[in-house]
Amino acid sequence: MEKLIDGNLDYLSADDIYAAVREDTAVNGQKPYAVIVTCSDSRVPPEHIFSAGIGELFVVRTAGNVIGDFERGTVEYAVGHLGVPLVVVMGHTHCGAVGAALDTHGEAPQGSLGKLVTEIKTAIGGERDELNAVKLNVRNSVARLRESAELREVQIAAAVYDIASGKVEWL
Ligand SMILES: [Zn+2]
Repeated sequence: MEKLIDGNLDYLSADDIYAAVREDTAVNGQKPYAVIVTCSDSRVPPEHIFSAGIGELFVVRTAGNVIGDFERGTVEYAVGHLGVPLVVVMGHTHCGAVGAALDTHGEAPQGSLGKLVTEIKTAIGGERDELNAVKLNVRNSVARLRESAELREVQIAAAVYDIASGKVEWL
């Protein structure tokens, strides 16, 4: 908690453009240019990866970048109400959620986490290669988004982020 409180104080005292951007977006609203659907993994911070700042990316993060009703509704809001023209579904290398779905030896997770892993398991089928499984899981999330009538027309890009090199591979 101390790290968070100190971090916010540093953020407030930083001499950068963000004070002006905060004020502008608070008054005039947000106009993000992309929705990023990605994993909650702490090694995958979208604003850092895309050199973006406040008001630029509309971000939805879940473990394994899986899409359920609430996540799809969040993207519907961004596209339908904010007019965001592009959605990116971005998986990443060494994803723990995909790893859990690939793990046939360990005990299967229960509860809500179990449902999440089952969604990924269904998406990857019999694939055993980790990177291919990550890509199949991304494709599945794209398909989940396309289940919405409001997301049939919007451009949806698929990508994989390499957590070691920092590079985004566009699929
Ligand atoms: Zn992950």
